[in-house]
Amino acid sequence: MLGFNFFMKKSLIVLSAPSGGGKTTIAKHLLSTFPMIKFSVSATTRQKRDNEMNGKDYYFLSKEEFTEKIKNKELVEYEEIYGNYYGTLNSEIQEAIKNDKILLFDVDVKGAISIKNAYPEEALLIFLMPPDIETLKQRLRDRKTETDEQFEKRIDRVRMELEMKDKFDFVVLNDKLNETLKEVENIVRNNIFHLE
Ligand code: ADP
Ligand code: 5GP
Repeated sequence: MLGFNFFMKKSLIVLSAPSGGGKTTIAKHLLSTFPMIKFSVSATTRQKRDNEMNGKDYYFLSKEEFTEKIKNKELVEYEEIYGNYYGTLNSEIQEAIKNDKILLFDVDVKGAISIKNAYPEEALLIFLMPPDIETLKQRLRDRKTETDEQFEKRIDRVRMELEMKDKFDFVVLNDKLNETLKEVENIVRNNIFHLE
């Protein structure tokens, strides 16, 4: 029998957290666990990190190229974050719909709310909560991807980000990684369409 739940199931998984909160780690786990899930590759004007690939992690654009996409209405949403632009491309969503894929987003808290507003029936918002600010700082430092200036900019935003967590469908404490992965996996299994 198709219960009430059938109609409640979602197709857009939105992961959000402060910088260093574990979005990339958890996104990679979900992508390797569920072949039906595709990553929504965002556009950004920030510099590529050594371990990132253009077109896979982000579309790395110049400021002019990004502005052109805004002008042409190619973005579902965009934000200026830590001095750079980040935005979700319409084409990623259209492509996923065409290929019957579940889409996974790694976006900031404001972007998550915008996606929920644009797709209220389809979006499932998950906020990853750091155990405490010191642990978050340590994880970000240990990642060794940010300059001191970038590190400070990222930490300056944490308070605002934590204040928005109540707007999310699920808040998951990211303390022990194995437990977090299991919890997010279960949320996805219980709330997302035809995964297996
Ligand atoms: P984000 O994408 O949200 O900025 P990352 O996934 O890059 O965060 O995680 C930041 C750093 O913290 C990475 O080096 C990652 O390996 C580490 N990390 C993430 N979750 C945990 C956890 N639960 N315990 C310990 N380290 C973690
Ligand atoms: P990072 O530079 O660490 O990859 O990302 C910085 C922040 O930008 C993170 O919070 C990340 O989730 C967010 N982000 C990445 N892509 C997008 C996007 O398309 N839209 C929005 N609003 N935020 C994004």
